[in-house]
Amino acid sequence: VSAGVAAGTRAGTADLLRRARDAARVLAEQARSVDEEGTFPLAGMEALRACGLMGLLVPRRYGGLGGSYAQLSEVARVLAGGCLSTAMVWGMHCQQVAVLADHASPQLNERVLPRVAAGEVFIASVTSERGKGGHLLTAHAPLAYEGDRAVMRRDAPVVTGGARADAYLVTMRAGADASPGDVRLVYADRAQLDVEVRSPWSTLGMRGTESLGLTLAGTVPGEQIVGGDRGFEEIAVTTLIPAGHIAWASCWLGAAAAAYRQVIALLRDPRQRREFDLHSDLFATRLAEPRMRLDVAGAYLSRVVAEYEEARRSPHRVETLNAPSFQIHINTLKVHAAESTFEAVNHLVQVVGLRHGYSRTSAIPVERALRDLRSASLMYSNDRLLVANGKLSLLDTEVRLP
Ligand SMILES: Cc1cc2nc3c(=O)[nH]c(=O)nc-3n(C[C@H](O)[C@H](O)[C@H](O)COP(=O)(O)OP(=O)(O)OC[C@H]3O[C@@H](n4cnc5c(N)ncnc54)[C@H](O)[C@@H]3O)c2cc1C
Repeated sequence: VSAGVAAGTRAGTADLLRRARDAARVLAEQARSVDEEGTFPLAGMEALRACGLMGLLVPRRYGGLGGSYAQLSEVARVLAGGCLSTAMVWGMHCQQVAVLADHASPQLNERVLPRVAAGEVFIASVTSERGKGGHLLTAHAPLAYEGDRAVMRRDAPVVTGGARADAYLVTMRAGADASPGDVRLVYADRAQLDVEVRSPWSTLGMRGTESLGLTLAGTVPGEQIVGGDRGFEEIAVTTLIPAGHIAWASCWLGAAAAAYRQVIALLRDPRQRREFDLHSDLFATRLAEPRMRLDVAGAYLSRVVAEYEEARRSPHRVETLNAPSFQIHINTLKVHAAESTFEAVNHLVQVVGLRHGYSRTSAIPVERALRDLRSASLMYSNDRLLVANGKLSLLDTEVRLP
């Protein structure tokens, strides 16, 4: 695979970051127009397909880069500094790849993952559903079965990159008689489905993610039910949720840190700095506040990534990842990153004021970062995660901190 690395070698972090920085330049060039027009970042995605990063989490035996979660996090931060919408499309794709690599049958992975590594397959995520909202561990639409084939028809109200995806991972109820908590995760190639666009994506921010409402209908071989009859909960707890929260938090942090960097450059620019009272204690305090939030979010992110990687290597992997303390930490990562990155950028608006921070014509896109990051607490609602963490806290009697 020309975009990947030679079999048997692992891409080093420096090499991955070089690829990420090159791609981020393309993402940055497009960021304003995809936001203004609410269109999908085709050029940015093309750059990501061409440079091998779509296969970052594809194991090397399938021709991918075999990246770690620490590398996923670093690359996400760089990409999001170019365009948060594009980085999030990529981050969610990597989350789906992680699920396949960990849980799909070798036959399915042999068919799909080399094509992912070659940049041919971008996988979208379908978990939310009309009627149940975001709740991850339930599904309403049931699978039906024709011999060893699974028949699906699924309403999908918010699918990032949904109209552009080459494949989907979809949560479905196990069958017409199954309870909503009995969920299966189904992989479907786009060619196996009728994909109908039902609603537009016209939002305050994250406008380049083109997260349309779709209806998906089709029939797939039974082997495309990821994890078979073991069900969805183990997939969610051991891979989907950790990979998602790490990718999302990294994207948000990368976007907020980029906004902070742009503000510092503005404040140091000899042509601009006379506008600001850099010797004022109030000004210094206002600048310190968002910096503190980003430093703390960055430290917590690194710690939880390390905790996840340690748990994955543990001989008691599933047990460790199921522990209430780990689940609290991974949920806190998402909630804290969502709040602190938005708050940091909100503070930056106050630091640089209307012309640079609030105006759409500003040379630095702080205003776009603010709108984009407002979605972070909604993208799998923080409320749901805090309710879960409150209940889990009663079970973690030792109060194990990360
Ligand atoms: C940028 C972006 C991209 C997305 N991409 C995808 C995608 O690719 N695929 C996909 O399937 N979905 C996607 N989603 C949807 C996402 O997963 C959630 O379903 C959606 O954001 C949640 O919608 P909601 O605000 O209606 O919250 P819901 O989770 O449906 O909840 C509705 C309301 O009830 C509150 N609430 C919920 N549960 C509780 C509780 N237990 N206690 C108290 N209050 C509660 C919430 O705060 C919220 O206000 C995306 C969302 C965003 C913002």
